[in-house]
Amino acid sequence: MRKPIIAGNWKMHKTSSETREFIQELLNNFTGLDDVEVVVCPPFTSLEGASTLLKGSNIKLGAQNVHYEKSGAFTGEIAPDMLKDLGVDYCIIGHSERRQYFGETDETVNKKVKAVLEVGIIPIMCVGETLSERENGETESVCKRQVVEGLKGLTAEEIKKVVIAYEPVWAIGTGKSATKEDADETIGFIRKVIEEIAGKEVADAIRIQYGGSVKPENITSYMEMPQIDGALVGGASLQVKSFLEIAKF
Ligand code: PEP
Repeated sequence: MRKPIIAGNWKMHKTSSETREFIQELLNNFTGLDDVEVVVCPPFTSLEGASTLLKGSNIKLGAQNVHYEKSGAFTGEIAPDMLKDLGVDYCIIGHSERRQYFGETDETVNKKVKAVLEVGIIPIMCVGETLSERENGETESVCKRQVVEGLKGLTAEEIKKVVIAYEPVWAIGTGKSATKEDADETIGFIRKVIEEIAGKEVADAIRIQYGGSVKPENITSYMEMPQIDGALVGGASLQVKSFLEIAKF
């Protein structure tokens, strides 16, 4: 049985004090969600404050990016150990905004996935096609390449720990969500790719989320699909009310 995982990607939103207010309100209203894993991913500057407040709760903390080196002359970057030391449990890697605006490639995604696993942080590895790739019939080939390259060199045991977020780029922040059938079909395809590279046991165990304009109004329809194990939520994770409604699907 795969435990569903609902993660909020705050992107570049909320100061440290806004984060503390949000987390406090979230904790005040958070009850009885033992069957779902809930993760908040604030910006780096908010991680320490969030971590302090979340200690002892069953809400997990995630970062939105990381550098793959352990330390060194990489001005402005954050190493996996630095996140681990703050109590970070998850790290989003290879979000399409990072691929699009910050030159992230399958190769850097792969290095980052390995680097966080090494310190005991679970990667949420994002994959997904752009609109033109979809229109050219390349959805499966793009997702396959991103999954195979992103997980290259990992053992089956390591792959089992990874969370994959299938996020069609055209559905992120646009209000245009994929149909539940489309999302389920592509996630099923990704699971087959995992089976090819790591075997059936790993494919059955690995959690694969859908992401792209998930809202309280559409979460239930995704969660009733057999292949979809949760959601990576952007815009709707920025208000406690909508995030909780999604987490309670
Ligand atoms: C995201 O940032 O990963 C995302 C899916 O954003 P939104 O929910 O706003 O489309």
